[in-house]
Amino acid sequence: MIHDVIIIGGGPAGLAAAIYAGRAKLDGFVVEKMSPGGQVLITDFVENYPGFFEGISGFELVEKFTEHAKRFGMDIKNGEVDSVRPEGEYFNVNLTDGVTITTRAVIIATGASHRKLGVKGEQELIGRGVSYCATCDGPFFRNQTVAVVGGGDSAVQEAIFLTKFVKKVYLVHRRDELRAVKILQERAFSNDKIEFVWNSIVEEIIGKEQVEGIRILNKISGEISTIKVDGVFIFIGISPITQFVKGLVDTDERGFIKTDEWMRSSVKGIYAAGDCRKKPLLQIVTAVAEGATAAFAVEHDLA
Ligand code: NAP
Repeated sequence: MIHDVIIIGGGPAGLAAAIYAGRAKLDGFVVEKMSPGGQVLITDFVENYPGFFEGISGFELVEKFTEHAKRFGMDIKNGEVDSVRPEGEYFNVNLTDGVTITTRAVIIATGASHRKLGVKGEQELIGRGVSYCATCDGPFFRNQTVAVVGGGDSAVQEAIFLTKFVKKVYLVHRRDELRAVKILQERAFSNDKIEFVWNSIVEEIIGKEQVEGIRILNKISGEISTIKVDGVFIFIGISPITQFVKGLVDTDERGFIKTDEWMRSSVKGIYAAGDCRKKPLLQIVTAVAEGATAAFAVEHDLA
């Protein structure tokens, strides 16, 4: 059987694409390797999605997206894509379990994953104090002291979230200015539990069985010091999940897929939407807009 479209990834971009593809009566489905939702699923609180001015949990928002996509007839199937191969005028979407799906168009909406610091102790202490998800692991650090590394929206938002549980958060940033949006900065600066450690780079995460501290280098003074912490939450940006189409579609040097304004990649029939796409603003609201545009482009191009 040859489908009209296969949407790879069930985050906001993929689910929005599914809603629009379903309404356009395109035949196809979403392939998602975990539960639908992507990074939003592990976001405690979303307050910048239009209509939800009082905020909504990422989990609840994603549930609504998923139900919405299903209502318009788009199924979400579990599977991990290993590769996408052009086959004449079609594409073979190969899953890691050996299944191949043939389709006329592919929307890549695989999003991104967290980046690692790459310092001593990080890999060894994952799950033993090193975390990349405050929503998942924050409650384990009740009344303890943690460090958050990074200065973007994720680091600042998650540092604020962690103060619900922990005694103290050291926010370690490599510059003396945050990248995060101003409203988050204001909240963090007025939060007594957050202490900023500016111009500092984490050189090592210390600990034998569990995280015991971080060794940091002050870039200005050259001073090396140790901060005692029970946990380290790392939010230093994201990498696109696009390895499975490496060499097939054009990307930038970091792997973000380049598209035109219709979300068309360099390969006719392959589209990209959401955080895996090269673009200036990575937000739920832009991801859903791009998913909708990609599905519209598929409908247009197949017709
Ligand atoms: P980001 O915006 O790329 O910020 C990454 C932060 O980590 C920057 O402050 C950066 O420092 C720092 N950093 C990068 N590499 C580092 C290293 N090797 N060592 C130490 N620090 C390092 O990433 P993000 O915060 O994960 O956010 C990703 C995207 O999602 C962004 O577009 C963001 O706006 C969006 N997002 C939005 C929300 C929201 O709207 N509430 C929430 C979460 C994420 P420099 O500042 O010096 O570059």
